[in-house]
Order: sequence, then structure tokens, then C-alpha cells
Amino acid sequence: MNVRISARILIELMSIYNMYEKRKKYSFLPRGLTQKPIGNFAITVFVVTILMCFMPSAKFPQRKIDKIQTIVLDAGHGGEDAGAPGIKGSREFLEKDITLDLSLRLGKLIEEKMPDVKVLYTRKTDKSVKLWERPNFANRNEADLFISIHCNANNNPKAHGSETYFMGLHVNEGNLDVAKRENAVITYEADYKENDRYGGFDPNSPESHIIFSLVQNAYMNQSLRLSSYVEAKTGKISQIRSRGVKQAGFLVLWKTSMPSILIETGFITNPEDRKFLASDEGKNTIAKGIYEAIEDYKAFVEKS
Ligand SMILES: [Zn+2]
Repeated sequence: MNVRISARILIELMSIYNMYEKRKKYSFLPRGLTQKPIGNFAITVFVVTILMCFMPSAKFPQRKIDKIQTIVLDAGHGGEDAGAPGIKGSREFLEKDITLDLSLRLGKLIEEKMPDVKVLYTRKTDKSVKLWERPNFANRNEADLFISIHCNANNNPKAHGSETYFMGLHVNEGNLDVAKRENAVITYEADYKENDRYGGFDPNSPESHIIFSLVQNAYMNQSLRLSSYVEAKTGKISQIRSRGVKQAGFLVLWKTSMPSILIETGFITNPEDRKFLASDEGKNTIAKGIYEAIEDYKAFVEKS
């Protein structure tokens, strides 16, 4: 059963549930008898159980990756999609510029220090790259790692720190919000609704986000390991504090057929994080932290 049909079933189930909830408000109950509302947890358990029956598991064939030979670096956003602005209304600090700069610095480090590794970039300039094309590019090139680089944003300027994500079900609203913001970039693509590459994904529908986070990724353990290394290394040497390893349903990670992570390197909306992310020293430190994480991961994979 494909994802589009699963999404349809879920949407139908949710609408039946909503109808039931609305009707319940007007139901006539005997005095003293209160109807116990079904909590969010129960709804989630219900939806997840139903979905587990329909979701394809490990849909994409698993390649045994015992050597890291090709790494795809994916600088988030680009072109007309500027990503999150550091300061509202200003083009001085844009996510797309910081992610590109970071990805080029990281790539240079890998090229210099790991001559046996080929580094490929989804973009090396300020250009638009469709979201589906990013994992596609990695799959076509049989990459052994896919690393998507981003900056976080929040209406609260106090929010700060780095987070590394891998594909999976979000456990809180905060993780879901990050995935929603990053997935919303497909709306820059005029044909995203008709485009079958997104399997009927609707960035405005909460159900879509739940469904996509449930798709099993064959490389979950490896992605978790790399995410942990990234947060440990960057958290140690960078002044941006680590908020840890997290999971959510990111469209850009969805169809990758290799371990894949998305790094939210810091909050571009927080003055201290922004200053660090915009500085040469900050970018070099973050690139070094990610490089060292890749180095440790590569050593682990190649010795085991
Ligand atoms: Zn982003």
C-alpha cells in the first residue's frame, strides 16, 4: 500500500473522529454523568496503531555500507528559498547563506583530510534545488552518508542551541514544528501538489507529518549513531550548546537510501547563536565538529 493511500485512510479516520468529537459536545447526558474525553495520547495511540498496519516497512532496499567512500553535503534552502531570516525583514543573516558557507567549509575539511572520500554537494552556489532532488542526488550517486545542514528559528529569541535529527516519529511539538518549517519549503515548487515524488504530502496537514514520520528507515541505527557523534563533538567545541539528538519526519531524509541526518546548527533567531554562526570562527568550529563526528563514524563503520 503506498503512502498516498495510507495518508487518505488516516485523513478519513481523523475526520470520522472529529465528527464524533463534535457530535459528543451536543449529546444529551443524564445529570451527573460526564463523558470522559479521549485524550491526545489515546488519539495518538489509535492513529499510530492503525498506521502501523498500513505503512510499508524498510521500503527501500538496504545496501550494506561498510566503507564511507561518498558523502553528500546538502546545504539547506537556496535561491528564492532563503530559509529562516536571522532578523525579520532583513536580508543580512539568511539561513541559506549560512548553510551554504558551512557546507563548503565542511566539504573542504573532508576533501583535505580524507583523500579517499568523494564529497558531493547538492548545491555549491546560491541556487534553488527542489527538495525531492536532494535525496535523489544522493541515491543516484550511491552516497554512503547524507548530511543536510540547516539553522533553527523560533519566535522566541531566547531559544538557542544545536539539534541533530534523524527520520522518525517526533515525541514533542517542538520537534514537529522544526519538521513543519523545513518541510514547508516544498511550497516554493509550483507543482508540489501534483508531484508524486512527495507521495501526497501536504505541508499544512498534521496527518501528513505523522504519516511521514512513521515511514521506516532502513538506516535508523546508523543515522542515530552519526547524529550522536555530531551533537557530542559540536557540543564540546562550539559555544552553541547541544540540545541533543531528536527525531521527526523530514521530507528531505524520507527517501534517502543511506544513513542520513539533518543538523540544525543553531538558532539564527538567537543573537548569540547568530553571531557565532555568522562569524568565521563559529563556522570553522561547527564544520570541525561535524568533520570529527564523520571521522569517528567512518572509523566505527570501517572497523566493524
Ligand atoms: Zn532549514
